[in-house]
Amino acid sequence: MNSTVQWPDTQLDIADLVSGGWRPIPFREFVLKVHQRCNLSCEYCYVYAMADQSWRNRPVVMPPLVWRAAAERIAEHARTHELGAVRVILHGGEPLLAGRERLLDIVAGLRAALPTECRLRVGLQTNAVLLDEATLTDLCGNGIEIGVSLDGTEDGNERRRRPDGRSSYAAVQAGLRLLGDPRYRDAFAGLLCVVNPATDPVACYEALLQYAPPSVDFLLPHANWSRPPVRPRGGGATPYGDWLATVFDRWYDAARQGTHVRLFEEIINLVLGGSSRSEQVGLSPVAVVVIESDGAIEQVDSLRSTYEGATRTGYTVLADPLDAALSHPGIVARQIGVEALSATCRACTVHRVCGGGHYAHRYRPGSGFRSPSVYCRDLYRIIAHVRRRVTDDLARLASGSMA
Ligand code: SF4
Repeated sequence: MNSTVQWPDTQLDIADLVSGGWRPIPFREFVLKVHQRCNLSCEYCYVYAMADQSWRNRPVVMPPLVWRAAAERIAEHARTHELGAVRVILHGGEPLLAGRERLLDIVAGLRAALPTECRLRVGLQTNAVLLDEATLTDLCGNGIEIGVSLDGTEDGNERRRRPDGRSSYAAVQAGLRLLGDPRYRDAFAGLLCVVNPATDPVACYEALLQYAPPSVDFLLPHANWSRPPVRPRGGGATPYGDWLATVFDRWYDAARQGTHVRLFEEIINLVLGGSSRSEQVGLSPVAVVVIESDGAIEQVDSLRSTYEGATRTGYTVLADPLDAALSHPGIVARQIGVEALSATCRACTVHRVCGGGHYAHRYRPGSGFRSPSVYCRDLYRIIAHVRRRVTDDLARLASGSMA
């Protein structure tokens, strides 16, 4: 652990929270790092291209001893907290590099371990390069939902994710077209796209739409106060917020919305007084835990973008129940809502919608995770834009002037 990190590691008083009535929320989503390597090399990847390099010292593929222990620990957690459903994400690196048989063995092991009254949903997050008919037949046949990472247009994609200078776009495109085939389409969970303000936002969105994804999520590239986001020259004060606002208008103003856009729907929901299910905005508790290929129980992967060891809890499925991690300061900090925000954020007019932004983006060396997001101005820009569009429409609806 970085000994200079103050909040939450040395400053969050968990005993005080508990005496005040706070209780942890059990984990409901479990990310299994089944393969540590990837067949692409994206410039923004938090696993390989940022501060934490612990992947180098872990098994490349999650061995049976570890995934069996992970399945037992998830089942134990489900029984302890009487969970009616859990979600497991097969993740990497690139999880398909682990091999189809291994992935299916893991899913079968999970199903066998979980109590019958607990429903299992399994997802797999892939770059789609290895999606072929045999793989899709197996994944779909086992009810595995497939999410794909894609950065929009061919140019946008290739600029940031070429392995050794070779293009991956044709392979990704072929995999995605196959996934859209009626035989497999029910397994298509959606697309993830990392925002690049140097690209044309509408062209990017429309490039994603050509695959008819059931949903799209836009992610801000991981950055923090020690490693600020790249801001294109001449891009103004809020290039990421501007980019998102342009896509929002294209999506919102369409006669028929082409897909669900998670970030936008979450902001609309929050603006209208609801709660969020996203890590990017809002104040809802995070109930996700990661199990590494060596069995380590860790905090969410995105923290690897901050400092070496940032995800560590010190627990392992080979020796500890998942409940042990529920009292780790880093996990607790994600479950206490407004209490985790900086004074600046608490005083901000949009803090219930913004939630201080993504937790990893708040990191500032020395003080830890209690600063506003390094994307503060961009977040304010997109939230204010969505709020204005929605409240204008509500006012027109109330006055009867909406067609
Ligand atoms: S807009 Fe900035 S100050 Fe306001 S809640 Fe978000 S990160 Fe904090």
